[in-house]
This record gives sequence, structure tokens and C-alpha cells, in this order.
Amino acid sequence: MNKNEISCIRNILVKRMTELIESSDNAIKKLKITDEKFADPFDQAAFETSKNVELNCRIKNWNLLLDIKETILRIDHGLFGICDHCGRQISQKRLRVEPMSKLCIECQEKMEIRQNAAMPRNKTTRRVLYNHV
Ligand SMILES: [Zn+2]
Repeated sequence: MNKNEISCIRNILVKRMTELIESSDNAIKKLKITDEKFADPFDQAAFETSKNVELNCRIKNWNLLLDIKETILRIDHGLFGICDHCGRQISQKRLRVEPMSKLCIECQEKMEIRQNAAMPRNKTTRRVLYNHV
């Protein structure tokens, strides 16, 4: 990937990061302003639920923000496009589609196979527990 393409990706990431920070600031202000107490416990529960949904959304955005910042740092330090696991070059095709990739496709697939192998037991256990409730 040439310098212009990498620079273009960096600009897009900086713009996205700025949007996320602004959105996050607005959401925090909104949460502070709307920290109400309701007489009706159902209204209070509904309010708390919507607040929790908003906070979960903020957490997801925060994690995305961290990924963006990390990718910008990788670009600035000449590490962009290098697999964290094997150290080989990540394909340009993959980076164009998913510029925040930290793993090459082979390492990503191996990691997913390992995660999927570990997950079904947990899901089955949870499902069994719900069946007994
Ligand atoms: Zn790799």
C-alpha cells in the first residue's frame, strides 16, 4: 500500500475519531442533564434501562475509539499493515476493507477457530441452565 493510500486511511480515521469524541461529549452532557428521578417505579425502570442502553453504546464507541487511535499510532510508527501475531504483511485487500485489522487473514482465521472451539460449551451450559428455570 503506497503512502498516499495510507495517508488517506489516516485522514478518514482522524475524522471518524473526531466525530466519535464529539458524539461522546454530547451523550455525556445529555446523560448528566437527564439524570431524573421518577415517582412511578416503572417510569424509573424504563429511564434507567434507556440510560444503560446509552452507556453500553458509549462503551462500544469508546472501544472503537481506542482501535482507531491504535491504528493511527501504528501508521505513525510504520507498523501499519503488519500482523501482530506472525509479523507478516497483512494483504492490501484486507486493509482496504478493514484498515483496523491487526492480524493477517490466516492468523485471524486460526484465532476464530480457537475461539469457536472454546465457545460452544459455554453456550450449551447457559442454554441448559435457562431450560431449568
Ligand atoms: Zn499473521
